[in-house]
Amino acid sequence: MTIPQPASYCIDLHCHSTASDGRLSPTDLVARARLQGVTHLALTDHDTTDGLAEASVAAAAQGLTLITGIELSCVWQKNTIHIVGLDMDTADPVFAARVAEQQQNRWRRAEAITTRLKKVVRGCPEDIQERATAEAGGDVPGRPHFARVLIEDGLVSDFGQAFKKYLGAGKPGDVKAFWPELAEVVRWVVEAGGIAVVAHPTKYKLTATKLRALVADFQEAGGQGIEVLTSGQGRGDLGFLSELCRRQGLLASQGSDFHVPGPDWCELGKIAAMPDDLIPVWQRFRRPVGIAQVA
Ligand code: MN
Ligand code: MN
Ligand code: MN
Repeated sequence: MTIPQPASYCIDLHCHSTASDGRLSPTDLVARARLQGVTHLALTDHDTTDGLAEASVAAAAQGLTLITGIELSCVWQKNTIHIVGLDMDTADPVFAARVAEQQQNRWRRAEAITTRLKKVVRGCPEDIQERATAEAGGDVPGRPHFARVLIEDGLVSDFGQAFKKYLGAGKPGDVKAFWPELAEVVRWVVEAGGIAVVAHPTKYKLTATKLRALVADFQEAGGQGIEVLTSGQGRGDLGFLSELCRRQGLLASQGSDFHVPGPDWCELGKIAAMPDDLIPVWQRFRRPVGIAQVA
């Protein structure tokens, strides 16, 4: 059976506010979404649900439906993967505790890199972590952001030297990420009554074979959906991901991954049309979107 998407809806299930690395407060984000014609919005900040309370007040005032969301970082076969959780019960105390722990993990690696660089880099700036964070746009800085600060201060000549001396494999600044395994974060979402979705599947630069293996492990852990429409996709991506959905019986999700107004990021609600034969993830929400219109 083909279930057409309600044409009057604009559904954006992936975006960020100042609760993580977005530029707009939850209130301003919701207002902007409304202005862009978004009718259903999931706020999916990195490893936190802190923006949801404010966003839900704003959504009620603006007449927009807010879906609870989060974007969780995790590890799968040494790759950092992002899992979007949708429609969870965020009041669930177990889920809240897991997210709080995850939020701490987020900064532990950056702090470890900072400590080590201060030990080994002569003339290392005292505020290197703050500056690296600024380089990362307010998000948790990674090694390239630390490298940029070292270059700025003339402590190394370029990226190559920064990695060769301090940040590359086996060097003091080579600190592994502290993320949990993919199966674990999928379980967190599922146990909180939500739906786990693989965020922007083609951004990890995995081969098709690897991506299929990832999806298999994800489904075994209880994951149900993948984003088939997100910003910055290449020409063949929608076709490839749609086919993956059909073959694996996955739900299809979509989102702008909006961070900041302006040309560098996709606008809220600016999402291409999903193929009609896919099963949209919002039909499995606790209060399904659009079902009533399909008699
Ligand atoms: Mn981000
Ligand atoms: Mn992401
Ligand atoms: Mn994102």
